[in-house]
Amino acid sequence: MSGGDMAKPLLGHRSVEGEQRVAPAAGRTIGVLGSGDFARSLAIRLVCSGFRVVVGSRNPKRKAGLFPSAAEVTFQAEAVKKTDVIFVAVFREHYSTLCDLADVLAGKILVDVSNNTEINHHKESNAEYLASLFPACTVVKGFNVISAWTLQSGARDGNKQVLICSNNQEAKRIVAEIAQVMGFTPVDMGCMSSACEIENIPLRLLPAWKIPIFLALGLFLCFFTYNLVRQVIHPYIREQKNKFYKIPIEVVNTTLPCVAYVMLSLVYLPGVLAASSQLYYGTKYRRFPDWLDQWLQHRKQIGLLSFFCAALHAVYSLCLPMRRSHRYLLIETAVKQAVEKKMNIWVEEEVWRMEIYISVGIIALGLLSLLAITSLPSIANSLNWREFSFVQSTLGFIALVISTLHTLTYGWSRAFDENQYKFYLPPTYTLTLLVPCTVILAKVVFSLPCVHQRLLRIRRGWEKGRYVKFVLPSATGEYSSGETSSNV
Ligand code: NAP
Repeated sequence: MSGGDMAKPLLGHRSVEGEQRVAPAAGRTIGVLGSGDFARSLAIRLVCSGFRVVVGSRNPKRKAGLFPSAAEVTFQAEAVKKTDVIFVAVFREHYSTLCDLADVLAGKILVDVSNNTEINHHKESNAEYLASLFPACTVVKGFNVISAWTLQSGARDGNKQVLICSNNQEAKRIVAEIAQVMGFTPVDMGCMSSACEIENIPLRLLPAWKIPIFLALGLFLCFFTYNLVRQVIHPYIREQKNKFYKIPIEVVNTTLPCVAYVMLSLVYLPGVLAASSQLYYGTKYRRFPDWLDQWLQHRKQIGLLSFFCAALHAVYSLCLPMRRSHRYLLIETAVKQAVEKKMNIWVEEEVWRMEIYISVGIIALGLLSLLAITSLPSIANSLNWREFSFVQSTLGFIALVISTLHTLTYGWSRAFDENQYKFYLPPTYTLTLLVPCTVILAKVVFSLPCVHQRLLRIRRGWEKGRYVKFVLPSATGEYSSGETSSNV
């Protein structure tokens, strides 16, 4: 491992006022059991953060060359004797081989950094298992969410949070301090019973994205099949025309905007359903059904996938004229016109439709980009609640309206042309309009003063049919109290 970035401590030990202060943990001797990838990266990072490091290996002579010269590599028992805090960088299945060290380990802090290969792989967490093998030690779970790569490349690259749990507050404090000096952010996850949860974290693959990705794939598959039938299968069956060349670009490019547009409307539909439920029940305290709760929580991911599809649609559209099929068709049309001696092929209405349709599409994509950028945590954190809600709610809704204009100008009068109904199937764009138009219509209804006021009152805690206490001044100037329905 070269010096470079690693040579410098990640955090200068400065207080907020800029005063130099010696970090209490730095200078302490830290033990590391094991000499694998994680142990090596950990030792390098610890040395660079100002700690003395002693590595315990079964074969110190062979492994010493892999560690920085500042770290001492020795036999396991020797290493353990020299320190009070020991990182166990060994797999769970090898914990029992450390039992010979039980006497020298007694009274020391063991940091369990291990991960499993499957979620909830064992009945008890690895840290609890380690604690059961070494009852005279204090076990702290931590650092397992940090990869060997993050340790090597520095805490500025990758996840900075180190989740820590233990039944011993003092041991937890010491490990948290070490993490902080190394440039990480310790997060107290409570007592040892949280170890299982901490061990499952690195095994989860984009948990918040599963439902939105399946939704996007499902919509893509439906619209792709629909477009395939209309654009390729229909001409093949009815006119024996081979249009299969359209599948990789044209069919995909007519599918992507459908998915993007419907997904964008699905970002705002749960809000409409939630508001309708609040209006219907006249309260904001009634729990939404689980599916609606889940849907509301996935709006950000659904919106980002909508932006992804819209961006792909823009790139595909730009590439359409590059295709050889497009050039052949263009020349074919030109030759036909020359043969028919048609000089003026300018159709004013078509020209205007195209200009408006493209321009509106670009604006919609611009707004979607803005929504995507402001949903990034670093940007979102710099906005106050009102700014964030203005961008995500108001601008997002404007993006939906502009996307609707884009779809309508694209479709124009095709919905009324019977030639467009292939196998009696309406043009795809008419189908995509259903959900977005419902959302827009509902939003318009909610903005009517009578509905808006009622919704506002409900969101401030007013409830239909709930009796509230009131206090009125009597004719004599004294106050009398009573109860009335807030509905009245
Ligand atoms: P590794 O490269 O295979 O190293 C494991 C080390 O365990 C070996 O080098 C060996 O060192 C030591 N060991 C002690 N007793 C052993 C035995 N009986 N049999 C085999 N090895 C024994 O694994 P690693 O990637 O460093 O992972 C070590 C621990 O860190 C694991 O629990 C893992 O879940 C955790 N972790 C790893 C990462 C990562 O990015 N790699 C990230 C988070 C957590 P000696 O031969 O010197 O004794």
